Amino acid sequence: MSEDRVSKIIKPAILAAKAYHVPDSGGLTKLDAMENPYSWPEDVKDEWSRCLQQAELNRYPDASLSELRSRLAHALNLPDKVAMMFGNGSDELIQIILMALNKTSNVVMAPEPSFVMYRLLSSMMELEFVGVPLNKDFSLNLPAMLESIAKTKPAVIFIAWPNNPTGNAFEQEELEEIIKVAPGLVVIDEAYHAFAQKSVMSCLHKYPNVLLMRTLSKLGLAGLRLGMLFGASEWISELDKLRLPYNIGSLNQLSANFIIQNIQLLEQQAERIRNDREGLFNSLSKIPGVEAWKSEANFILFRVSNPGADEVHQELIKQKILIKNLQGAHPLLENCLRVTVGTPEENELFLTKLGKIVTA
Ligand SMILES: *Cc1c(COP(=O)(O)O)cnc(C)c1O
Repeated sequence: MSEDRVSKIIKPAILAAKAYHVPDSGGLTKLDAMENPYSWPEDVKDEWSRCLQQAELNRYPDASLSELRSRLAHALNLPDKVAMMFGNGSDELIQIILMALNKTSNVVMAPEPSFVMYRLLSSMMELEFVGVPLNKDFSLNLPAMLESIAKTKPAVIFIAWPNNPTGNAFEQEELEEIIKVAPGLVVIDEAYHAFAQKSVMSCLHKYPNVLLMRTLSKLGLAGLRLGMLFGASEWISELDKLRLPYNIGSLNQLSANFIIQNIQLLEQQAERIRNDREGLFNSLSKIPGVEAWKSEANFILFRVSNPGADEVHQELIKQKILIKNLQGAHPLLENCLRVTVGTPEENELFLTKLGKIVTA
């Protein structure tokens, strides 16, 4: 195959991009991807498999997702007049929003460091991405944001709330300031809603330029791939045209319908994770040579000094523990790593191993 032909046909932005890398986690204690570590009780699993037997896989899935829609509207106490659409994970919703942008308004903005997909998908679609650095303590640099908004007039601003990988949630008043001056859309990404227990849902009606994004992934269904986008129907009805008609398969719809009826199970697991997060934070902070940041999500960001993050990461892998190394991801993240809150046993194991690797 001639490489020349590939490079002629494929967009330069894609040729230049690096594929999103998912590390091999076989045999490791997996604390790298904000997964819920708990499974379901056997009777719930049995009920779920019985439920899946209703699937008619010879038929296309329900394209309107009507049952899921009404169950979710009820479960989430969705305000009147808020429209919703579904994505194959919220990653797909980010992609859909970016695909919809007018050619003449192609600036995408987010504070940084933040969720990497905002930048990655923007650059693959040849949109201009403006990352506004956070302060050193990972709080929002509001003056810099406002200045950058005035200068670059972004079509979309993404704000992860709480933010990934830093774990903090910016002040709501700061979000409102941004929303007020934004010339286009502001997408508030509430992927960690279950762990922060705060939301802009109830004030969506006040902000006609705001979309709210949620996902079931971090709540405990990372394997399901179900993201949700909420906002005024004027926006949602346009974006929904870009959604492939059957993006949520029948098995996923049945599973989501089932779990929404059992949502208290996931909420109890989230509560456990929130409690364990506090213990993990306190223990991490006590390890000499470790600086940890308070988190409102199900992970904790921390910095090491001796040895550096690359070495700590590798050493933990040798000891069968996988966390996320953020060295090199952004200048503010020098020697930073991110650990997902696991079961108490997993957290303890991680702390013990880490304590033996780092020194002050
Ligand atoms: C994990 C994460 C997502 C991706 O969620 P999926 O629904 O699994 O695609 C989106 N936004 C943020 C901020 C995340 O951390």
